[in-house]
Amino acid sequence: MREMSALKALSARVGADPLLVQAAGGNTSLKQDGVMWIKASGTWLQHALARDIFVPVALDPLLAALGRDDPACETCADFVRGDLNSLGLRPSIETTVHASLAQRIVVHVHCIATISLAVRADAEAILAPMLAGFRWAFVPYHRPGLPLAREIRKRLKPDTDVLILCNHGLVVAAETVAEAEELLDRVVKALTRPARPMRAGPEPRLASLAQGSAYVPSPDPGVHSLALDPVSLAQARKGTLYPDHIVFLGAGIAVAEPGEAPGTAARRIGLTGRPEPKLIVVPGEGVFLPQDATPAIHAMARCLADVAVRLAADDPIRILTREDELALVNWDAEKYRQSLPTA
Ligand SMILES: [Zn+2]
Repeated sequence: MREMSALKALSARVGADPLLVQAAGGNTSLKQDGVMWIKASGTWLQHALARDIFVPVALDPLLAALGRDDPACETCADFVRGDLNSLGLRPSIETTVHASLAQRIVVHVHCIATISLAVRADAEAILAPMLAGFRWAFVPYHRPGLPLAREIRKRLKPDTDVLILCNHGLVVAAETVAEAEELLDRVVKALTRPARPMRAGPEPRLASLAQGSAYVPSPDPGVHSLALDPVSLAQARKGTLYPDHIVFLGAGIAVAEPGEAPGTAARRIGLTGRPEPKLIVVPGEGVFLPQDATPAIHAMARCLADVAVRLAADDPIRILTREDELALVNWDAEKYRQSLPTA
């Protein structure tokens, strides 16, 4: 199947670009002969050429279920074509986003340029002139799964092929992989703005701060911008900006007192009953992650640093509400994704 090979190549390309996709985030799909082939939950797009990551889903029953708001759409596990499914995995937690669009190819990315605009309280107004000429729709924040699909279906016009998901990311749709890739590149270009340079502190100093704790300095120099760029820190500490942040790093970020070592900060935060932080920012020094941090944690730390250097001091930021956060951490489909071994 030529189109599937092309989709795998595109998936691997966008999956390997940290400005488009981080860790197991993002997903792609192809609809053919009543079946939608969609990335499996928990798999990484960047592995699309190296291994089998697509799960077949029967499209008509899924669309009928979406139409009646059937809770089975939360995982879509019931719609997997068992006869074609060699993986034994579930479809992506964002399968309903892909099914809601009629086009044959759908590409969803957690594009940094898009997120840095989609986290603004005035996102729709700011985006309008940037996306003039595109057939786009703005989708207010809803948890992925049924709530997001419901909102998308409300906002779609027959020719809509670009969706900006508030506090989340970008979706493009087209009839061919080549057209989807071209559209993706055009939208990303339209939304790309200059970023402040990333900063890194001296390594020996960071290592000595972390000594004796369960934390290590982030090995990715750019991540330390969160600690060294005051605007990045001021914006990032406001709260959770997008779903994969809370899923992998917990709510918001933990910020140490000036000069406080990460281990001391973690104990202090632990005393308040909050879970041990996955990411600790020591202002003016650097960013610390658990010694046993997974590749997904590293990728999400970089994602936040990349988003934050694209935010200005006076950008009005919309963070996820406590209700939004709880809806994500208590969602069974998300718990399943978390239970999978990290790639
Ligand atoms: Zn997403």
